[in-house]
Amino acid sequence: MQCNYCEWRCELNEGKFGVCKMYYGENGLVKERFPNRWSTCNISKIESIPFYHAYPGSRSMVIGTSSCNFACRYCSNAYVAKEDPAKQQEGMFEFTPAELVKMAQKQGCHNIVFNVNEPTVSLPSLIEVSQVARDIGMPMGCLTNAYMTEEATEIIADIFSFINISLKGMSPEFYRDYIGIKNGEPVLRNIRRLAATNHLEVTVPVIQTINDHELDEMATFVAEIDREIPFHVFRLLPEYKMKKFEYPSIDRINDTLQLVREKLQYVYFHNFVGSDWVNTICPDCGTEVIERLSLGCGGDRLAKFSCIENKCPTCGREIKLHGQKINWRSREVS
Ligand code: SF4
Repeated sequence: MQCNYCEWRCELNEGKFGVCKMYYGENGLVKERFPNRWSTCNISKIESIPFYHAYPGSRSMVIGTSSCNFACRYCSNAYVAKEDPAKQQEGMFEFTPAELVKMAQKQGCHNIVFNVNEPTVSLPSLIEVSQVARDIGMPMGCLTNAYMTEEATEIIADIFSFINISLKGMSPEFYRDYIGIKNGEPVLRNIRRLAATNHLEVTVPVIQTINDHELDEMATFVAEIDREIPFHVFRLLPEYKMKKFEYPSIDRINDTLQLVREKLQYVYFHNFVGSDWVNTICPDCGTEVIERLSLGCGGDRLAKFSCIENKCPTCGREIKLHGQKINWRSREVS
């Protein structure tokens, strides 16, 4: 039987689990091996995840499971994404969807965000969590590599109202040599699809000499869909099989980003302390409408929010924001 959650479309025959090892086939159905088992249930500021244009200032419950359908050579979460999921189960949390959502509520979270690994490998559990969250009006978001099938993309579009897609490169050579898939065409297709109905931000994990020369092409691709899509360049510190690779030079990426900024309205560069590229600037008049602090690996946080009704306080231009600023202490909109 075929699993149609992602573009691997694995055959799940007797005793065979497919690339991610998270599903099996039984009586003609694709079933989850480890439903409702979570590697992560943490609290985070939404800016640290990162979402810069969704519910600024809000407190999120970050959840994750195990495994992934990509084989990124530089993965910084390999301990979760690349270890055999069966071996990880001992250390996992087990919470029903109702328990998870209640916990998020009790901790004062405004939303739930799936992070750490790839949501496509745990979709049935996430569908259940989203049904409970929807009942109490708690929005859900996710980070994804967007390698899901068209069918699964519709599910993702329904579960998550705000999505950050990791666009890792453009060339088939990059996807083959560094990610372990044939090409990134499905990812590009799904970015186009999700941008049409959901709040979308795009993040490029940049690795010097490996994909930095594709930054301009990636920005052009995103700009052709919508110049207003927030575009994050994440200074990736390679891990896993690329531990010995150089960290990206901030100056060198800065120079490339000056060109990118001409194509897209909201361009950010972070994952290093003191980045100047974490504030939102009104594309029309240049006013700093949202200021953030970049704490490097410690995450980012909201410092000052000056929009009035999601518009620039100086010229009145609409600033692309999904939802409104949230006061995380009270969960109130301010
Ligand atoms: S989700 Fe997992 S089992 Fe299903 S097609 Fe993708 S890699 Fe294969």
